[in-house]
Amino acid sequence: MNCDRATRLISESQDRLLTAGERTVLEVHTWTCVGCRNFKRQVGFLRQAMAAFAQRHDDDEDPPMGRV
Ligand SMILES: [Zn+2]
Repeated sequence: MNCDRATRLISESQDRLLTAGERTVLEVHTWTCVGCRNFKRQVGFLRQAMAAFAQRHDDDEDPPMGRV
């Protein structure tokens, strides 16, 4: 496992379920590599921020009264 593969797996984990083997090697790598640990945290934070933004945006566009 190198950083190239680790960051790619972290990105892919946002879109698909990693296999057990992929998760294991990724966890071992992020334990030992602070760069990928930071990257993983940033990706998780960005995803949460975007989900929160999408939720707010949806509420603005779609008033509760208009919902079925
Ligand atoms: Zn790394």
